[in-house]
Amino acid sequence: MTALPQERRVLTAIPGPKSRELQTRRTAVVAQGVGSVLPVFTARAGGGIIEDVDGNRLIDFGSGIAVTSVGASAEAVVRRASAQLADFTHTCFMVTPYEGYVAVAEALAELTPGDHAKKSALFNSGAEAVENAVKIARAYTKRQAVVVFDHGYHGRTNLTMALTAKNMPYKHGFGPFAPEVYRVPVAYGYRWPTGPENAGPEAAAQAIDQISKQVGAENVAAIIIEPLLGEGGFIEPAKGFLPAISEFARDNGIVFVADEIQSGFCRTGQWFACEDEGIVPDLITTAKGIAGGLPLAAVTGRAEIMDAAHSGGLGGTYGGNPVACAGALGAIETMRSSTSTRRRRRSRPS
Ligand SMILES: *Cc1c(COP(=O)(O)O)cnc(C)c1O
Repeated sequence: MTALPQERRVLTAIPGPKSRELQTRRTAVVAQGVGSVLPVFTARAGGGIIEDVDGNRLIDFGSGIAVTSVGASAEAVVRRASAQLADFTHTCFMVTPYEGYVAVAEALAELTPGDHAKKSALFNSGAEAVENAVKIARAYTKRQAVVVFDHGYHGRTNLTMALTAKNMPYKHGFGPFAPEVYRVPVAYGYRWPTGPENAGPEAAAQAIDQISKQVGAENVAAIIIEPLLGEGGFIEPAKGFLPAISEFARDNGIVFVADEIQSGFCRTGQWFACEDEGIVPDLITTAKGIAGGLPLAAVTGRAEIMDAAHSGGLGGTYGGNPVACAGALGAIETMRSSTSTRRRRRSRPS
């Protein structure tokens, strides 16, 4: 699977001398706003191990923020991305298209929940995908308001800072933020005053009441939620909450967006976390685990909603870069083979 031995090996103090030296160079030239969890510099990474510049091998619990779900430098990712690098690095899909982009969109249509006709648009980062989901929902509904939830995280660009709940470290001092963003309660079972068993229906009723009274359902373009919250603490909304909110969206012509940038691509044991309660979102945003470490993001959803934006209204210079698409096809190939192995194992009589 990887040339790097899957073992923990500590040879020096952590961080070691070479990492400390690099940290000094880094501090002189890299902006302080870009933090690091641990000042250990990477030399190589493979599978679940990072080898640092001092030769230490550390178990990688960070996985690049839920990105290298198939392991660092997974064989199929490296093989496909390397071949693509040799063929061509970039043409811009909006100028001269290529197959990899189409193949990723086909895979997304097949793997995401729901049997309806689906289309996708590809981008570079999760925040960019969320911004574009808002653009698409506004174009489709001709409405402006966007509803998000307590503890939610959706990115660091201006619009996604507005959608993100937490002030420190994401928003502090960076305002003013985009308007027409409204935040309502989420069913955080562990902290819900009347207990986890009541959190689902009670939080849904509160959220819906707040949307109806403070925003007006007929003004809402999109409701955006992480089916399993990530950066706000790993919060699984109490049962019943997501179905109630998605039903409310459906009844009121609101685009229901599942932000599965962190929870998607087998992170929760299913392809997407919203499958747990049988939710079929109108739009789904993906990134992180999609491409095994290469920068790629997507908005996938109902064809008629995705087609609401006029031609030329979506895109970007690098969105769906061919090397990143090849990486995604490698990551998806890896996940497909391990999910089918698991299924085979499960169905075998013990
Ligand atoms: C990480 C994350 C984003 C932002 O993705 P970037 O690639 O960092 O822009 C958005 N939503 C969720 C749920 C995330 O976990």
